[in-house]
Amino acid sequence: MSTTATPASTARQELSDFQGRLIGPEDGDYEQARSVFNGMIDKRPALIARAADRDDVANAVRFARDHELLLAIRGGSHNGAGLGTCDGGVVIDLASLNDREVDPNARTVRVGGGCTWAEVDRATGEYGLATPSGIISTTGVGGLTLGGGLGHLTRKCGLTIDNLLEAEMVLASGESVRVNADEHPDLYWAIRGGGGNFGVVTSFQFRLHEVGTIIGGPTFWSAEQGAEVMSAYREFLPNAPRELNGFFLFTTVPPAPPFPEALHLQQVCGVVWCYVGPEENAAKEMAPLLDNLPEPLLHGIHPMPHAALQGAFDALYPAGDQWYWRADFVNEIPDEAVAIHARFGASLPTMQSTMHMYPIDGAAHDVDAADTAWSYRDATYGSVFAGVDPDPANAEKIRTWSVDYHEALHPYSAGGAYVNMMMDEGEERVRASYRGNYDRLARVKRAYDPDNLFRVNQNIRPAAD
Ligand SMILES: Cc1cc2nc3c(=O)[nH]c(=O)nc-3n(C[C@H](O)[C@H](O)[C@H](O)COP(=O)(O)OP(=O)(O)OC[C@H]3O[C@@H](n4cnc5c(N)ncnc54)[C@H](O)[C@@H]3O)c2cc1C
Repeated sequence: MSTTATPASTARQELSDFQGRLIGPEDGDYEQARSVFNGMIDKRPALIARAADRDDVANAVRFARDHELLLAIRGGSHNGAGLGTCDGGVVIDLASLNDREVDPNARTVRVGGGCTWAEVDRATGEYGLATPSGIISTTGVGGLTLGGGLGHLTRKCGLTIDNLLEAEMVLASGESVRVNADEHPDLYWAIRGGGGNFGVVTSFQFRLHEVGTIIGGPTFWSAEQGAEVMSAYREFLPNAPRELNGFFLFTTVPPAPPFPEALHLQQVCGVVWCYVGPEENAAKEMAPLLDNLPEPLLHGIHPMPHAALQGAFDALYPAGDQWYWRADFVNEIPDEAVAIHARFGASLPTMQSTMHMYPIDGAAHDVDAADTAWSYRDATYGSVFAGVDPDPANAEKIRTWSVDYHEALHPYSAGGAYVNMMMDEGEERVRASYRGNYDRLARVKRAYDPDNLFRVNQNIRPAAD
């Protein structure tokens, strides 16, 4: 690059075959193009390469590598730590790689690496089929899948990675490869939990399950009853059938329909349910919890399409809000931890701030810790302490609440955290989250990305020779 050339102007010259758009700071849509879901992240890439196809991705990877530019990969842009963008480098934006192809007979779906879950759920829902994802449909398939994928269907169908059959990837060399149990099996192992460390996934193929109408919605009690409800929940959930998922939460009732006005803005605790089974059985399966607790403030359980539950939180969490979160895996919830939850959960700093505790048992426990990169198969829950607010003036307030909540509970955790719900917390934290799988991941990294080109992520460093 000459001294006056910028990465964007050089890319326009060198990547004349680029089918998508090359956006630099001088372009009118740069501000919009650089923004990511978390409004707290304010990074200014030198070039945003909005790829139209796999060749564009390969060319942009080679460009970043040859010019020694920092490289970030952007799927749905939801990463809390802002790991889908970077300062001064190249961002490959995959949003246009959003094709979906359902094979209802084979019960599989192939989706572009830049899809959101809303796009995938809509396509598979037409056939009464689904693959497990998260709980908010605007999230990207790319980041969520590569980090693991915890959501409403975890107990019944496993993590998202447990349903990943194949991926097509562009490697650091610029080469495109197909990755599955037979082709590049080490890479297939590593991308199931190892994040975006190994290359750009341009398409994913998932197994589908018969999940059409589900029975879902929330049950809320007052936040002051948090200790009582959580104590009952920790006894109930591990013994519930895997068709029943229910994540525990502290939240504030949104001031909008369908919630009754009398409950608007009340701080509550409760469970968000997803039951995959006959409607008439749902109440029976929830009864061992509900019968042991006082009458809830709200029990809003209804049959609905799976995609409707997936989208139920979307309006509460629009793009652009400030987010700061911390997370931990949990094996057990002793009384001391329940008391800490009850204290922080009843003092949410803002309306959208929340604590979610996602079950990781059922089908997720059918897979051994060494079978995929995702090592915490013995954890019972993944907790996330999410401070959220639209006003940047509240950034410190939500950060402090999240950090204090996390630090108070960390001694009761399993040690590591779900990488998709961490901030940029340093190498030791990443190691702790992969535990016994870290060294193998580092060896796969050395084989496929020895120079650590893909390092804007929860980074796994290439093993030393
Ligand atoms: C509102 C909200 C709700 C969430 N709910 C859930 C949930 O229910 N369950 C859950 O498991 N997680 C959930 N998450 C966490 C989510 O999984 C992570 O934030 C994840 O990183 C988002 O992926 P993305 O593609 O949207 O993000 P991006 O910011 O675009 O990317 C995140 C990381 O993944 C890499 N990446 C993305 N796509 C690709 C690709 N195609 N190839 C290679 N690397 C890629 C990027 O390089 C980056 O390091 C939620 C996040 C938010 C903000």
